[in-house]
Amino acid sequence: MDVIIGLEIHVQLATRTKLFCRCRADYFAAEPNTLTCPVCLGMPGALPVPNRKAVEYALRVAFALGSEVQPRSQFDRKNYFYPDLPKGYQITQRAVPLAVGGELVYLLDGEERRVRIRELHIEEDAGKLIHTPDGALVDMNRCGVPLVEIVTEPDLRAPREAREFLRALRTLLRHLGVSNADMEKGELRCDANLSLSQDGELGTKVEIKNLNSFRGVERALAKAAQAQAEPLSRGERVMQATYGWDETRGELLLQRQKEEAHDYRYFPEPDLVPLELSPEFLAQVKEGMPELPWARRDRFVSQYGLSARDAEVLLAEPTLADYFEQVAAGVGDGREAANWVLSEVLRYWREGPPVPAGELAELIRRVRAGRVSRTNAKQVLEEAAEGGRSLLELLESRALEQVSDEEELRRLAREAIAAHPQAAADFRAGKAQALGFLVGQVMRATRGRADAKKLSQILRELLTE
Ligand code: ADP
Ligand code: MG
Ligand code: ZN
Repeated sequence: MDVIIGLEIHVQLATRTKLFCRCRADYFAAEPNTLTCPVCLGMPGALPVPNRKAVEYALRVAFALGSEVQPRSQFDRKNYFYPDLPKGYQITQRAVPLAVGGELVYLLDGEERRVRIRELHIEEDAGKLIHTPDGALVDMNRCGVPLVEIVTEPDLRAPREAREFLRALRTLLRHLGVSNADMEKGELRCDANLSLSQDGELGTKVEIKNLNSFRGVERALAKAAQAQAEPLSRGERVMQATYGWDETRGELLLQRQKEEAHDYRYFPEPDLVPLELSPEFLAQVKEGMPELPWARRDRFVSQYGLSARDAEVLLAEPTLADYFEQVAAGVGDGREAANWVLSEVLRYWREGPPVPAGELAELIRRVRAGRVSRTNAKQVLEEAAEGGRSLLELLESRALEQVSDEEELRRLAREAIAAHPQAAADFRAGKAQALGFLVGQVMRATRGRADAKKLSQILRELLTE
């Protein structure tokens, strides 16, 4: 039996205002019911006006997926009652969506996988119910926030593939600058459809609604596959049904069965004319497309000599990729910059860069010039990352500049030999490890600042003269 999965993904577009009114769209930290107006509250007589930016962002996604944009798409009403939907209908695009077709290629264990896109459309979000011990409260701030819905063909073959596909999609959305696509904040959510196929025939599917974590997507689908395999192996039929997902319990929650399927009574939205996109507007959006992550990955490999794997890690977050490029430009060596960013910077990243790119580049340059030891550089970086003082300030104040001056090292080496005649004699008698002891003495005296390589060369010279 083969697992067959198709996803319907909702992406919240990061426009400043809502889809059909001028209310602010960044509801996440706002007081409930403060970002509303007659339009998004569905007051009688209020009329929607489409947000150009939302259309532009949705088009960027369509272009990136290679979808075919329909020059004339249409808005439809999807009618249903729910307390978080004051209008009693959602404006979406069903009969003629914004774009059809396309695909997303993503990497699974380093191998390319392809998922076809069925269609992509613009729609508005509903509000939110907040459940409290005293009853449910409703927050209308999210009403009318712009979404793009991406519907895939059933091309995914395992729960893990669904997760990795979504990760790749998130990376793409962030590179396009159209959404923050944070699943925890509900900016990226998905309904997952799954069936088990026997003898190549598509089976009856179940749908799991509103998954909002990568882990949840994988676990819920695994659970659904398991739940289908059992009846099928007994020769029984699968019931078409819609489920919710309880992340804490790790359980599917039955919401409705096929018999209770909704009839949304779709019809063309009478308050909006069809969405006609002029060739000029489309060209302008195309013109403004940022570099796509896969093109950027190839460039990181060819321009900076990075491995595909390292490039992939840097590109997972466009801000990290940007930071890396700034450091690389400052250092003049992409691989060296990548080494530092991947090994030293990444673990302090959390919300953003721990130190400015220019300062890190300067630090790396000093290490390369032999002016600061690697160990000391890492220590200073760690302190700067932990907060308070800037990297360069710390460098200056510590007098961490590496001692690599030939004369100075020679003087320090002579001092060490004079202070430890026994070690010097041991070395001359053939005990190689005595050299390490002398190097250690100079390191102690300089608090680790001596250029160890040059120093041992000089000591060796002085002791074999
Ligand atoms: P519905 O009409 O129930 O919404 P659609 O045909 O519109 O179903 O498909 C919705 C989503 O379900 C799409 O992402 C599609 O790829 C996926 N899908 C459709 N049929 C199956 C199936 N048999 N198994 C798994 N996924 C499927
Ligand atoms: Mg559907
Ligand atoms: Zn409004």
